Amino acid sequence: MSKSSRRYKSAPANSCSALPVCGQVRMPRPRMLLCCLCGVLTVTLLLGIYLSNDTGDINSRVHTAGMTREKLSHKPSKSSTAQVQRLVSQVDRMRLWETHLRPILIQRLPGTPGSQAVRQHISTQLSALSAPWSVEIDSFPSPTPRGLVTFSNVLAVLDPQAPRRLLLACHYDSKALPPAPESPQQVFLGVSDSAIPCAMILELVTALDVQLKALAQQKSPVTLQLVFFDGEEAFEEWTATDSLYGSRHLAEHMSRTPHPPGSSQNTLLQAVDLFVLLDLIGAADPLFVNHFDNTARWFDRLIVAEKRLHKLGLLSSHPSEQSYFRKDIYLGPVQDDHIPFLQRGVPVLHFIATPFPYFWHTMEDTEQNMHPPTVENLTKILAVFLAEYLGF
Ligand SMILES: [Zn+2]
Repeated sequence: MSKSSRRYKSAPANSCSALPVCGQVRMPRPRMLLCCLCGVLTVTLLLGIYLSNDTGDINSRVHTAGMTREKLSHKPSKSSTAQVQRLVSQVDRMRLWETHLRPILIQRLPGTPGSQAVRQHISTQLSALSAPWSVEIDSFPSPTPRGLVTFSNVLAVLDPQAPRRLLLACHYDSKALPPAPESPQQVFLGVSDSAIPCAMILELVTALDVQLKALAQQKSPVTLQLVFFDGEEAFEEWTATDSLYGSRHLAEHMSRTPHPPGSSQNTLLQAVDLFVLLDLIGAADPLFVNHFDNTARWFDRLIVAEKRLHKLGLLSSHPSEQSYFRKDIYLGPVQDDHIPFLQRGVPVLHFIATPFPYFWHTMEDTEQNMHPPTVENLTKILAVFLAEYLGF
C-alpha cells in the first residue's frame, strides 16, 4: 500500500457540497423549459436506438440484471455453535506458521528467483489439497523505473464455471528497500506486508478443504477465487504507474474476459460478488475499520464473528469481545490492490490494519514483531466469514 503521506487522504467531499453553488444556479424560465424538452427528446432518441439494436441480447441483459440482483441480495448462511466450533478447530496455527508462512519469508522482488520460489510454494500447497483448485500463473511484462520487469500473479479458482465469485486476495511481492547501514546483510522480508496474509489464505483453504471440495461438487452459484498479486509495491516513490502492477493488470484483464466463456454481455469482473483484500496483518492489537458503505453489511459479519468466537472462548489473547473490528472509527482511504477493482465498480472489503503498524516499510517488519495468537484469531474469524458467505 502507499506511503504514509498518501495513506490517510481526507475523505472526498460529497459531490454536491464540493460545488460551491450546487442547487442554486439560476436560469430564465423559457430557456429552462427548452432545455427540459431537449433533454426528454434526447433520452427518447437514445432509448429508441438502444432498443432497436439490442433486442437480440435481451436474454443476456436479463441474465446480467439477475446476476447483479443475486450479488446484492446474497445472504450469509447461519452456522450453529457446533458448526462454528468445528470450523475453527480446523485452523492450525503451527501449520499456518511452519508450513505456509516459513517458505514465504524470503526476499521476493518481482521477476527474481525468490518470487518464483514463493509462486511455486503457493501452487504446491494448493495442488496438495483435495478441493479441485484450478491454478494459473498470470505473467506479463511491464515498464518500471528499473526497466522492463515480468510480473506474475497467482490465480486459483475452485469452480471456474460458477456464475459468481468471492475473491480473496493479498500480495506476495516484497518491497525493494535499501539495506540499513548498520546491517547491510539484512533484507526486507515484509512479514506482515504481506507474507502473513498469504499464509492465512493458504491456511484457510487447507483448514476448509473438505467443505470447499463439497462446495465445488455441489456446483454452487458462488465459488471462491484466490489471488496472490505480484508487484503491489512501488519500486521507488508510490505513483499511479509505479505501484499495483499485478492488480492493475488483473482488473483490466478480467474486465475484458467474457464470463461464462462466449458471453457477449458478462465479464469475469462482473462475476465478482465481493473482493476481500488482506494486508498488513501480523502485529498484536490490530484495528480494522470499515472503508466502504456498500459492503458494510459484510464488515458487520466480521464484527459478529469476532464477538461470537470470543463468547465461545475460541480466541486466545483476546481481551474484549470487540478488539479488532470497529465501525465507529474511520481514518481515510488507503491505496492498495483493491483500487483498480474499486474503480471498476467491484464491491470491496478491505481487511487492513489501520493505523499501519509502527514497523511498516522498515526492516522491523520481522517475524519477531508478529503475534501468532492474533494471526490465528483473525484466521478463525475469516474461516467463519467464508463459511457463512459460501454457505457451508
Ligand atoms: Zn508495503
